[in-house]
Amino acid sequence: MILPKSNRLSPEQVTAVTEIVESFGCRVQPIVGAVRTIYAIVGDERDELMINRLEGLPYIERIDRIQSPFKLLDIRSDLATHQIAIGGVTLGKELLIIAGHCTIDPKNPGYFYETAQAVKEAGAHVLRGGVWKPRTNPYAFQGDDKSLEILMEASRRTGLPVDTEVMDEDQLRLALDAGVPMLQVGARNALNYSLLRQIGAAVAGRKTVVLLKRSLHMGTLNEFISAAEYIANFGNPSVILCPRGTAPALDGYRNHPDESIVPLLKERTWAPVVVDPSHSVGKAAYVPACALAAIAYGADGLCIEAHVLPSKGIGDDPKQAVTPVVLTETIRRAREVWALRRPAV
Ligand code: PEP
Ligand code: MN
Repeated sequence: MILPKSNRLSPEQVTAVTEIVESFGCRVQPIVGAVRTIYAIVGDERDELMINRLEGLPYIERIDRIQSPFKLLDIRSDLATHQIAIGGVTLGKELLIIAGHCTIDPKNPGYFYETAQAVKEAGAHVLRGGVWKPRTNPYAFQGDDKSLEILMEASRRTGLPVDTEVMDEDQLRLALDAGVPMLQVGARNALNYSLLRQIGAAVAGRKTVVLLKRSLHMGTLNEFISAAEYIANFGNPSVILCPRGTAPALDGYRNHPDESIVPLLKERTWAPVVVDPSHSVGKAAYVPACALAAIAYGADGLCIEAHVLPSKGIGDDPKQAVTPVVLTETIRRAREVWALRRPAV
């Protein structure tokens, strides 16, 4: 990692640095933080001569060699001061609440518009709405391009930024062209490295934030953070980690609630963690407790499925969406737990 003395290198300085790095068979990838741009050396960055030549340049502060599988997202990385903001919230400074339907029903857009308004009034900062859905059953509703228009219309009506899942490159393009500011990578695609690379390349140079769910199959911490690094290493480090329960182990919960992963992630990465209690427990009645536990464990925010009339919803909504009343109360309590938190000792 090349750290310049100033906030970023001039084009001439980039050319000089690139020449040195490329002569050692590596490549330079700028990583644009909110304040500072740093430059990743892609390839084997251990060559002493290359490092000496780079450190000899008057505008280079130092070359950092973090021995970590995720150099950018590592807690010791110089990007650790990078701030991610969406919906008027800077992650880490205020609790981020993402809420809305699991799935937008294109035949009944009215429910989504009502939910959008209701989650805004409940205090949510980002509106979620599934346009395209990964469904276990191939005959179940798979989503509809038309829902993208409904999503963006709800965003215009409420002024809330929106979050939706993309599963392939076509959906990625449609979502970015429509102006979706937060893209979700679902649990089933959390380790789909081709998709992660496509998303990373597509969001580089944009303000888009990516919400990366944790895979269903209980992987290691490093596997999760490395998946996020796949996206970040194309140049946009605004990636949020989202635990959402792993393969079920407790009868009664849809998945195995994994909000206790938060402090472990926070020891290794600066990336914010927003927990999804809805898919963890899979039943509306258990969502508030899981949400509060996540905040107690140190989460930076919550992603909650909510619906004005869950029984009329589609996808996961009839089972696990909370009503606006429950959402409002959960957010109020979550903020209380957040306020009780003390820095780790
Ligand atoms: C969702 O958010 O509706 C969803 C499908 O989530 P996950 O990928 O975590 O199952
Ligand atoms: Mn869902």
